[in-house]
Amino acid sequence: MGMQKEKPKSWKKAPTPAWLKWITAIYLVVGFIVLFSVPNKAEYLLPALLGYVAFAGLLYLTKYIHGKLYIAGKLPPKPTERTPTAFMKKCVKCGREIPIASEECPSCGSRT
Ligand SMILES: [Zn+2]
Repeated sequence: MGMQKEKPKSWKKAPTPAWLKWITAIYLVVGFIVLFSVPNKAEYLLPALLGYVAFAGLLYLTKYIHGKLYIAGKLPPKPTERTPTAFMKKCVKCGREIPIASEECPSCGSRT
């Protein structure tokens, strides 16, 4: 009860959210279809490739930002992880609402 999972040190090891996995999967499939169905290869292949790479960079950036927020504890908990407010207390150090059974604050890590 109240045990908090060990947070990874690197943003790369933070779990990828489901929505980002879906966007990546759709991007890979749609991207390949678009790349292989470019009508005038000589003319449009370079912009298509650049767009493909640029979007990959955008996905990577999203994962980076999400990972950083995850490690900093700034992401809202998933609805399933949420504790009813009756079972919450305030952290003595940072003042955030934390589950009453937790031994340390998920946000600032101080003992409660
Ligand atoms: Zn705290």
